[in-house]
Amino acid sequence: MTPTEHQQIDAVLDRVKPLLRPLARQVVEAEGWLGGGTKFEWPMVRVVDDWCVFFNGGCVLHQLGDADGDFSLYKPIQCVMFPLEPNGDGTWYVRQHGYEDEEWDELFCLNPSNTDRRAVEALASEIAVAETLGSAFRWGEDPGGTGNSGRTS
Ligand code: SF4
Repeated sequence: MTPTEHQQIDAVLDRVKPLLRPLARQVVEAEGWLGGGTKFEWPMVRVVDDWCVFFNGGCVLHQLGDADGDFSLYKPIQCVMFPLEPNGDGTWYVRQHGYEDEEWDELFCLNPSNTDRRAVEALASEIAVAETLGSAFRWGEDPGGTGNSGRTS
């Protein structure tokens, strides 16, 4: 969760809470939505009952962003981009079974044999966001959190 994303979620938290699972809402109200873990030295979202607190049959941050006109408005950039991954040289690849040492082999959506739809079509929204991030983007950078059109760094 980048500093910008943190601020943006806090700003809409009152709208997010009613969308949460009942137990997740209870925990968020008592202890907050950040857990104790870190990634790239930034805090990670809290998990309740093995699920991200923002999961409720889908991502409620995605749902709220969509309602406000841009699915990526409030979603963490790592979640927005999944399953796209930067190569570190300005290009991106699609995470999938058997490619670039992918370790997450139980996730059906990373198995190309489960669909005939080409990634360039299925991931058009994610690719559009990747194009706004610029060729120098790496995980661990804060690209801002203003949605597709606002990410320019
Ligand atoms: S997309 Fe990210 S923020 Fe949304 S529910 Fe999944 S892990 Fe949580």
